[in-house]
Amino acid sequence: MLREAVFHVAHGSYAYPAAPDTLRLTLRAAKGDLQRAAVLYWDRYGSSAPAAAELSIAAEDELFSYYQVDVQLKTKRFAYVFLLDDGRQSLFYTEKGFFEDLRPNVQFHYPYIATGDLWEPPPWAQGAVVYQIFPERFANGDPANDPEEVEDWDFPPTTTSFKGGDLQGIIDRFGHLVDLGVDVLYLTPIFASPSNHKYDTTDYYTIDPHFGDEETLRELISLCHRHGIKIVLDAVFNHCGAGFAAFQDVLEKGTDSPYAHWFNIHSFPVETDPPNYETFAHEVATMPKLMTQYPDVREYLLDVAVHWVKEFGIDGWRLDVANEIDHQFWREFRQMVKAENPEALIVGEVWHEASDWLRGDQFDSVMNYLFQQACLDFFAAGTIRARSFANRLAKVQVNYPHPVNLAMFNLLGSHDTERFLTSCGGDVRKFALAVAFQLTYEGSPMIYYGDEVGMTGLTDPDCRRGMVWDEEEQDQELLSWYKKLIALRREHPALRTGQTRTVWADSMSNVYGFVRFLEGEQVLVLLNNSPQVQKVDLSEINWPGPTPKELQDLLTEEKHNLTALSIPPFGVKILV
Ligand code: CA
Repeated sequence: MLREAVFHVAHGSYAYPAAPDTLRLTLRAAKGDLQRAAVLYWDRYGSSAPAAAELSIAAEDELFSYYQVDVQLKTKRFAYVFLLDDGRQSLFYTEKGFFEDLRPNVQFHYPYIATGDLWEPPPWAQGAVVYQIFPERFANGDPANDPEEVEDWDFPPTTTSFKGGDLQGIIDRFGHLVDLGVDVLYLTPIFASPSNHKYDTTDYYTIDPHFGDEETLRELISLCHRHGIKIVLDAVFNHCGAGFAAFQDVLEKGTDSPYAHWFNIHSFPVETDPPNYETFAHEVATMPKLMTQYPDVREYLLDVAVHWVKEFGIDGWRLDVANEIDHQFWREFRQMVKAENPEALIVGEVWHEASDWLRGDQFDSVMNYLFQQACLDFFAAGTIRARSFANRLAKVQVNYPHPVNLAMFNLLGSHDTERFLTSCGGDVRKFALAVAFQLTYEGSPMIYYGDEVGMTGLTDPDCRRGMVWDEEEQDQELLSWYKKLIALRREHPALRTGQTRTVWADSMSNVYGFVRFLEGEQVLVLLNNSPQVQKVDLSEINWPGPTPKELQDLLTEEKHNLTALSIPPFGVKILV
């Protein structure tokens, strides 16, 4: 047995409550090394004999198999050891190491499932379809509020140009979101700022006048809620804009300003070119970094966060540059926001492994760039094949509790990346395949405005072009594809909130397949990421639940026996 590969800890994604009396345990072992993994568990204070449960493989990457099991105790106080067998040797794996015989005081402990520790992202967010809008570029509903110099809507944007998009434009085009079938609207920042992107806030309490006013926002929120759509705004608390009153005060009064400590100023007087103060990224003078360790800075920003939830009824916040702000700030942020609305969603911008923020005390979800990069490499660039793709997904999957995975903002692109269709070299077949994956895999698929009608664009500023509204210019076939897949998500709860098991990852044919399963329903998705027809023998699928006798194709309604199934080039099969 490869003992050095065996791993478990009694916290995080390796041991978490799946229900008030149920613990979900994960055990890692070398891939293919074990023939059997079981857990013996008992009440820490009880005297009855241990119960036993078999673990099954929930995911595999290139090195490891991840075994999982749910164990239940009415008393909620768990002691447990694993019993592992590789065919040659049977060993107990415990908190104190490996033993041939079970001895006292070596067990793992999950001391108690405290009700206060039970948490999950808001149920409405789990599996929801999110639509991201960059308001300056979605639609211009009110030419009267346009900035002074507005370029042509269809002209390639620059980092500093304006087109006049606004909140009224979103209201006017709301039917598009309803037709598409989205559940959540996420807007990049809308507060007063001199830029087109508004990530350099001048006033956190004012809607940017080029976007509208409080009345327009109220109207948009009420429109969303009437259609059962949630709305999430962008909180830029890592830094402010140089025009923010506190920073202006420091510029003017130097050390005499009561806000001098709000920023990390290396020497006085304050210089802006180059900046002699800490900023967002490298010397971005227009974005001074805020010192959130100070109580008055926190108080100010937390009041902003609560204000828009309490007074306007927004449903959550997406947090810009969330990983450069102290964890303690986010803990207070969560307490304040959830006190106002326990169902509010908190999504951090963290591009990498994010479990430090996803333990129930800070965020509910993050922008899932690990998902995005895996999709980019597999579907667009073709630099990895099916097995590596499965490995990359597995690493993310086992890293977070299941409800967190369901709420992950799974994006293909955003205002900060090249458009995915462009990354596919304009090949709509590859793009449509990636979209099919995004809309059937576990998580909250996030659609970047315009992707659904075939918009292209290199990275910022080109990915922020004016939305294409001319139906002749829109890819109607692609738009129908999105609608069809979103409708399937709604019709099949397994696609929305089911668990996920990879069942096919063949690098030779480049076919990747998985099953989403929930309460008896199993949906099989097979993606052929190759330019040839590929065959999959359905009798070889290892179903997480009972093996079905017959399958129905949800896209064509054809019926299939469990025999060989042909998948067209860059095609997808969704079978139930
Ligand atoms: Ca306008």
